[in-house]
Amino acid sequence: METRPRTLITGGAGFLGSHLCDKFIANGHDVICMDNFITGDPANIAHLIGNKHFSFIEHDVTTYVYVDGPLDNVLHFASPASPIDYLKYPIQTMKVGALGTHKALGLAKAKKARFLLASTSEVYGDPLIHPQPESYWGNVNPIGARGVYDEAKRFAEALTMAYHRYHGIETRIVRIFNTYGPRMRMDDGRALPTFMCQALRGEDITVFGDGSQTRSFCYVADLVEGLYRLLMSDESDPVNIGNPEEITILEFAEEIVRLTGSGSKIECKPLPEDDPKVRRPDLTRATDILKWKPVISRAEGLATTLSYFKAKMAEPVG
Ligand code: NAD
Ligand code: UDP
Repeated sequence: METRPRTLITGGAGFLGSHLCDKFIANGHDVICMDNFITGDPANIAHLIGNKHFSFIEHDVTTYVYVDGPLDNVLHFASPASPIDYLKYPIQTMKVGALGTHKALGLAKAKKARFLLASTSEVYGDPLIHPQPESYWGNVNPIGARGVYDEAKRFAEALTMAYHRYHGIETRIVRIFNTYGPRMRMDDGRALPTFMCQALRGEDITVFGDGSQTRSFCYVADLVEGLYRLLMSDESDPVNIGNPEEITILEFAEEIVRLTGSGSKIECKPLPEDDPKVRRPDLTRATDILKWKPVISRAEGLATTLSYFKAKMAEPVG
């Protein structure tokens, strides 16, 4: 009989998690998706319901996690991830980063499974080194508004390394830089869905600050390929995955207005507290170890994402 690896994906009904469910099933895994829908959407996994290689468990991973049968991999992606989400759910964000990571690691240990933590470029905070290599320890304000997310992820990294060192479990840590694509929530407040939806509605585009802060946007298909390679590698130190092409937020807003053909104007709003001024991954480690680099251009990725948001906005409300 065919035996497929069994992979648990926490946060599997979210934006990235749902693309990982697709990727792992396509690569021959049986996927168990676990989510409590705090920021996820059943629509993201609706196409997988009825697939014999997919199952879903509705559960809050900050409480004891039970999964029947063997597991080969545990991918811990559960966490609010956009600034407005983690400002709305500060305690849940800290709990899923701390208690949720503890439960997911405990499960991986019990099942002798490989564990992959979804960490973030936010562990570098408002970086003083640019671009950011994995060796940089970061510049995070622990008591600022973003601290709930940044510190939870830093704790999660430390706990993952402790389980690796003291329990000998196989662990991977990916530091994900800004990623975009279909299945982002229209109202998640991140720059890309906000700008695209504003442009499609002909509303003003809300650029925070003077828009001179930079980000580097990675298309989701590139990210999941990098993640898959990382899981299959034997690298236990953190690895940056993202796209190194950097752009100011003002230029990004203008690019989206042009792409949509919208008449929207740019409106400057106050810059949120501790908003990083620059962000770009140093991808040396990913390139050397995983033989991976992003291949999808921003023009191509934005066009696909725009089609998704157009279709989403055309859906009947309610
Ligand atoms: P998302 O909000 O779309 O997905 C997160 C999922 O986790 C949601 O489905 C949510 O319901 C679920 N979840 C949250 N708390 C939970 C809990 N206690 N129990 C069970 N499920 C829970 O966000 P995303 O952008 O897909 O991010 C996924 C992961 O990747 C997060 O860990 C995030 O920190 C990380 N990440 C994402 C990005 C990015 O650019 N998208 C960048 C860096 C890191
Ligand atoms: N941003 C903006 N207008 C918005 C939403 C975001 O100018 O309506 C800015 C935000 O201040 C940040 C950048 O866009 O400088 C990227 O924000 P996002 O929330 O997408 O992700 P971050 O990288 O800050 O986590």
